[in-house]
Amino acid sequence: MNNDYSYIDENLKKIRYNINEAVAKYRRPDEKIRLMAVTKTVAPEAVNYAVSKGIDLLGENRVQEYQSKRDFYDKSAEVHIIGHLQTNKVKYIINSVSMIQSVDSLRLAKEIDRLARENNRIMNVLCEINIGREESKSGVMPEEAFEFAESLGEFQNIKVCGLMAVPPAENSEKFLCEMQNLYIDISEKKSDNISMDILSVGMTGDYVNAIKYGSTLVRIGSGLFGARIYK
Ligand SMILES: *Cc1c(COP(=O)(O)O)cnc(C)c1O
Repeated sequence: MNNDYSYIDENLKKIRYNINEAVAKYRRPDEKIRLMAVTKTVAPEAVNYAVSKGIDLLGENRVQEYQSKRDFYDKSAEVHIIGHLQTNKVKYIINSVSMIQSVDSLRLAKEIDRLARENNRIMNVLCEINIGREESKSGVMPEEAFEFAESLGEFQNIKVCGLMAVPPAENSEKFLCEMQNLYIDISEKKSDNISMDILSVGMTGDYVNAIKYGSTLVRIGSGLFGARIYK
């Protein structure tokens, strides 16, 4: 490896410092925030470098890009799908990821359930919520979230573990707060079918605030690997 990845070291130090500060300020001292490295457009060598520095969770947006890179990845990190997933692509990832965070339709869930059963496993999922009600984004509407999560929970080979969202960049604090309220509301319903253990919100621009509003998992791309030229 000839590349100089010291910038990843520096970014990682800064991110961990900020996460610790945010926990100290806003959360109970025993609360742990999971840090995901979002790998879109990033070379596998750079991803593996981050894994060698302690990253144990990777986030993948596009199935095709993931397929072209996964053989080169250090296998010690877990992988979650975080991008919009087409039903016909589930078969390519069912055995190599530990969670699908971006589940937003029953049609998709049905296929995940079918393939999970065929492969003799349970797939962990999060319900993706379109908290900003943006046309350009996927996710179910906040008022549909509980009913949707309950329906997902009825699939035998799916385990509902929490909620995920990509809040609008504008006015993000308001949406982070709404996500936290939704997460708490659903947790308090104590449904047998669903667990609310993971609230996956927070990216490079808003992860400190996301931790303030209860996030348990933050998904960092550009803040770790540098600005993306496209996408
Ligand atoms: C790209 C992406 C991220 C990371 O975004 P950054 O702003 O680069 O940290 C997080 N979550 C999802 C769903 C993404 O597509």
